[in-house]
Amino acid sequence: MNGSYLIKPVLDADYPVISHGKGVFLFDKEGRDYLDASSGAVTANLGHGVQEIITAMAEQASKVSFVYRSQFTSEAAEKLAEKIAEMTKGRLEYSFFVNSGSEATETAMKIAIQHWQEKGRPTKHRIISRWMSYHGITIGALSMSGHVARRARFTPLLEDYPAIDAPYCYRCPFNSTYPSCGLACATQLETAIKRIGSEQIAAFIAEPVIGAAGAAIAPPEGYFEKIKAICDENDILFIADEVMTGFGRTGKILACDHYRAEPDIIAFGKGMSGGYTPIAAAVVSEKVIEPILNGSKSIMSGHTFSANPQSCAVSLAVLNYVDENRIAEKAEETGRYLSSLIKRLLTGFRFIGDFRGKGLLLGIEFVRRQDTKEHFPAAAGITSLIIETAAKNGLLLYPSAAGKEGIGGDAVIIAPPLTITKRECEELVRRLRKTLEEAETIIRA
Ligand code: PLP
Repeated sequence: MNGSYLIKPVLDADYPVISHGKGVFLFDKEGRDYLDASSGAVTANLGHGVQEIITAMAEQASKVSFVYRSQFTSEAAEKLAEKIAEMTKGRLEYSFFVNSGSEATETAMKIAIQHWQEKGRPTKHRIISRWMSYHGITIGALSMSGHVARRARFTPLLEDYPAIDAPYCYRCPFNSTYPSCGLACATQLETAIKRIGSEQIAAFIAEPVIGAAGAAIAPPEGYFEKIKAICDENDILFIADEVMTGFGRTGKILACDHYRAEPDIIAFGKGMSGGYTPIAAAVVSEKVIEPILNGSKSIMSGHTFSANPQSCAVSLAVLNYVDENRIAEKAEETGRYLSSLIKRLLTGFRFIGDFRGKGLLLGIEFVRRQDTKEHFPAAAGITSLIIETAAKNGLLLYPSAAGKEGIGGDAVIIAPPLTITKRECEELVRRLRKTLEEAETIIRA
């Protein structure tokens, strides 16, 4: 394996070795720079090398880095939970800390199931999700994910959880258009609940803006309001997976704040630490925790590194930075500027199907023909071509799937650090233009 003992995503591929990062740029050992237009995996929301975070990291390390959550709490964990309650405006108040987005959604699922058990309704243990969703790679999280490619190898192990269609207006699953569709994609939840029986269902989970399985698909107006009403009418908890969208990415602290639909549980990850350390959380409302508090008093989940002071101190510094520097508002404003530049750029290319998103979570979907929206054949490897061409041009993009039921389709996510300047946006678009021109030449050949 190229003289390396590290198991990499593609085992025998050569990956550049990164020496350091500053702001929106990463630098490899050969001295090449990369404009990080994907924030890694939509994670490095504050960019690289922010001094305030580095200082907080060192200060905590000089006190204590690890205590076990079953023996102690820590100042860092307590303050972080308090900060999250403050940032979610006191609506979702109780934090359970884990280490990855997958653990956060899986914990959310377990808390939802336990909530109903403690209320004497143990048959409510299934979760409804959507096609074109990604909630994580562990078996529970994958069972709730409508990402066909990531599920395929493990299908026999996955729970038989129901999934409804995504609000994918560009290729409407009902061959309709908004608003005459009457939000059929949301009504489908009601149909599914009636078919299965609400006594079997603990929760419905959705990303407020679909990430890895749809390249920044935001729902039409009224969608989540209708979803939440259906959940409430049927005693079903609403889990918002804000692992990719949380803490400013879409131009608001919570992507849910774009809608009037209050989640019962939120899963956070990625931007919660901006990539400075692994940490994630399942955050729940009073209503959700109450029966557990009045019952067994303990949530049956947890990990060795849950709520470790080192990660909590780093996350606290990141969230303070987000708050104090009005990062969400900045993302909103810069997102508008970057979108307008990209929109203008894309008019010149015939293999662009759709450009969409919210704040600084943007997606481009590629098509063989604009009039019929025909996909490129999978064998053409268009997403990989774009990603690789971009990397050669010093631009990092995030690959995404886009297609009904999470199958096929070529798309990329553009999601730079929320701290990106207007001048850096212009450089991003310059590198993107070069990438698309080169890719188009190859596609046409
Ligand atoms: N949920 C969403 C919306 C995600 O985008 C991801 C990762 O991309 C996950 C969950 C899983 O997070 P992790 O990769 O940290 O386990």
